Amino acid sequence: MRVTREQRFLLQQLWQHGAQSRSDLHELTGVGPNRVGALASALIEHGVVRACEARPSGGGRPRVPLEIDPGQRHMIGLTIWPGAVGVARINLQGHLVGKPLARFVSGSPARLVKAAAGLLGKRIGPGAMGIGVSVPGFHDSKSRRVLSGPIASGQAAVGLSPIYEVAGELPVVIENDMHALAARWQLTHRADTEHDVLLVNIGDGALGAAVLIGGRPNRGCVSSANELGHMRYFADTERCYCGQAGCLERIFSSEYLRQIEGAGASLGAAGRGTEEGSRSMSGVRPSVSGVLMERLMAYRVGDESLEAIVDYLSNGIANVVNFIRPHRLVLVSELIRSPGACDRLTQSIRSLMLGELVDRVRFDLWDQPVAHQAETAGWLALAGLYCDGWYGG
Ligand SMILES: [Zn+2]
Repeated sequence: MRVTREQRFLLQQLWQHGAQSRSDLHELTGVGPNRVGALASALIEHGVVRACEARPSGGGRPRVPLEIDPGQRHMIGLTIWPGAVGVARINLQGHLVGKPLARFVSGSPARLVKAAAGLLGKRIGPGAMGIGVSVPGFHDSKSRRVLSGPIASGQAAVGLSPIYEVAGELPVVIENDMHALAARWQLTHRADTEHDVLLVNIGDGALGAAVLIGGRPNRGCVSSANELGHMRYFADTERCYCGQAGCLERIFSSEYLRQIEGAGASLGAAGRGTEEGSRSMSGVRPSVSGVLMERLMAYRVGDESLEAIVDYLSNGIANVVNFIRPHRLVLVSELIRSPGACDRLTQSIRSLMLGELVDRVRFDLWDQPVAHQAETAGWLALAGLYCDGWYGG
């Protein structure tokens, strides 16, 4: 079934407020009682909504609460990442159904897309309601191509048609991995969509940002918040895949930490975590993703190398906050588990924010699994079901 805008409006209430009777839905939405009844019946018939046990009302018929049905339908999340693809199913309440599948793929971007389409084919079935696809970088949903980013790095645009062919009639929401993370944050936090949100994902050598305006993804331009990781500084880093040196995500990396401390001196056995971290894919998250994160987890005031790196990061994030002026800044990172590093980072960001924004911008910290998970991609499809503005971007 294709959910209509009216049905989505009803589903949005059930997602935000939990189980509601038909008359509650009428009161919440202003939609007439008969129309609510008809919409609810269609949603029940298609296994999207179910009736709970009736509760007594003050006279008259007992009220039957309706809730989102977790048991019948599901969404499929598909993730494409350099060298790997993954697929997972989540039910309509956002819980994982069955085991995610992942494959490492070598060779051209076209092989990667073909492998993704193959995995999708293994998971697609009659209970599926939609597909969320996360691909890093920029894409064009009209021409169904990835235009830039690590997948298309140094290549012509990469076609996504094999995925659409397997999807058939099912609606597809395709966005970058940061928008997938933002969809998951917004829905799991039942966030007020009136608030503009800047979400920043902080990983070793991988920074990303997403902007939600009115609860919808702002697809941005090539050089704006979405490209936070490629904001450039006068730092002598390794060359980035974007072709430049000095990119913020090259600075916020184990490689740069090693470099400024001199060829890995004193890092010892901790370096073994790096490769494992960069290979983490769809499911199991390593406890630390590299030397940088390991060191930040044990951060103490006076660690000059770390402070230099955190200062660059704070500067980059504060620049974006000052530019975008969001209501909320959501920092997504395993660093949240390190109070020392987290305090240093948030204080440093605040110290660089415009005075009028310091008290206005709300900071949220979210320790969330890796962004490029198939499960997280599935939340794109849920955002398409519960919120306006996610399909057809
Ligand atoms: Zn770059």
